Amino acid sequence: MNSKDLVCIGCPMGCALQVELKDKKVTKVTGNICPRGKAYAEKECTNPTRIVTSSIKLENGEIDMVSVKTEKDIPKGKIFECVQAINKLKVKAPINVGEILIKDVANTGVNIVATKKVKAVN
Ligand code: SF4
Repeated sequence: MNSKDLVCIGCPMGCALQVELKDKKVTKVTGNICPRGKAYAEKECTNPTRIVTSSIKLENGEIDMVSVKTEKDIPKGKIFECVQAINKLKVKAPINVGEILIKDVANTGVNIVATKKVKAVN
């Protein structure tokens, strides 16, 4: 039996969670005020995921970079590959909010989308 301490990120309360694990399975969660804390602890201990936010280089735009994010959480183990794909890309303005700039990033099935509108200069 293992135990792990986590801070729930489900809301600003930031409950301190104590998680008990056996054979990599969550057997008990305490410290959570609501059920979301238990769900977060189970996911974080078995399949941790994150939303990735970053910026992509931009040509012909009124600014040089456009902010982007993953449409959904991706597995933590895919974050490095995702950031590498973002860093090597350069796109051309105009860009609209929600525009898909990378499809299926790092074979996650998740797209990278723009979070800012950028007009072209020409
Ligand atoms: S357990 Fe519930 S109340 Fe506590 S931080 Fe998580 S979401 Fe907020």
